[in-house]
Amino acid sequence: MKKIVRILLIGFLVLAAMFFAFVPQYLDRSKNKSTVKGPFAKIGWYDSIPFIADLHCDALLWDRNFLKEHNYGHVDLPRMQKANMAFQVFTIVSKVPVGINIEKNPGNSDQIGLLSFAQLQPPNTWFSIKQRTLHQCATLHAFAEKSDGQFRVITDKKGLYQFIADREKNHRLASGMLGLEGAQPLENDLANLDEMYAAGVRYIGLAHFFDNEWAGSAHGMQKGGLTEKGIQLIKKMDSLHITIDLAHASQNTINDVFKYHDGPVLVSHTGVKGVCDNQRNLSDEHLLEIGRRNGLVGVGLWETAVCGKDAAATAGIIKYVADKIGIDKVALGSDWDGAFEMHFDVTGTPLIVTELLKLGFTRTGIEKIMGGNIRDFFLRNLPE
Ligand SMILES: [Zn+2]
Repeated sequence: MKKIVRILLIGFLVLAAMFFAFVPQYLDRSKNKSTVKGPFAKIGWYDSIPFIADLHCDALLWDRNFLKEHNYGHVDLPRMQKANMAFQVFTIVSKVPVGINIEKNPGNSDQIGLLSFAQLQPPNTWFSIKQRTLHQCATLHAFAEKSDGQFRVITDKKGLYQFIADREKNHRLASGMLGLEGAQPLENDLANLDEMYAAGVRYIGLAHFFDNEWAGSAHGMQKGGLTEKGIQLIKKMDSLHITIDLAHASQNTINDVFKYHDGPVLVSHTGVKGVCDNQRNLSDEHLLEIGRRNGLVGVGLWETAVCGKDAAATAGIIKYVADKIGIDKVALGSDWDGAFEMHFDVTGTPLIVTELLKLGFTRTGIEKIMGGNIRDFFLRNLPE
């Protein structure tokens, strides 16, 4: 009898070890595929572009060592260096409903707790959205500490100026910033915004795939606007210099932000209804208002954003936005590692430059689109 129990126990432990060893990596590999693999051709002056940047990736969601190069997923430091990338925003996905879609999602289920468990993250992250968010923030800071000075996290203007100066001497330096996809990590308590600020969060998308306590989502059940608490939230964000990200916000939420907030806003990863009409994408009216406020629009790389799957589709939307609101207000907002099959990983960034050239953009214009605009936006809007 004892022998049978021992065999069963060993069998269970072997299965558990296999689960924790293989399931997180299997999910990462199968969710974050690329259609084409590099190396990708670069035009002659590509590596001289001073500041290539991207407004949105979800790399922190996956159990991957950012400091090592991988042949799966989309973003890690060695691949950023290959692509001459100076700056990447790392956004935190903290709660994703089961059966996620862009039309309508209730907020009463969550797949991220299970993922945190499968990745063997600390037990407080399995049940608390706030704790798993703070854990992901700490993970990025820990990568910076272990990077031997190659990577740093930007949290204020001073740090960004210093990074720009240091990178002029060493093009292998890269940097990151933290943002949230949805305000649900605040766990219905405005006081938690101070903790997010202290952890380095510098932009917040008000709602992700479901309506939350603060704001309606473009993919929620009600798709309402800002709640009373949501209005307080954007006021407090403004006082802390945390930028509002309108990605995933419902039409009503976007209208309310324009009503209750005066300053610039960004849209970290999006497409436009004018070219690719769906629930997810920005209307011309909202685009024009973002332009009037000297905001920033990050154009995505995935199919529901740009109604295409390659660099040409993204470049076409960039041109649409630049023509509507100006070349100083458009950027890249890839959504790499966002559980989509992308055309290419971060090393494919040169393909976008090639497509922008074909559309007639000059080198000066391309340098703005590929990162200069992101640099200048945060030099204007980060805390001192
Ligand atoms: Zn997103």
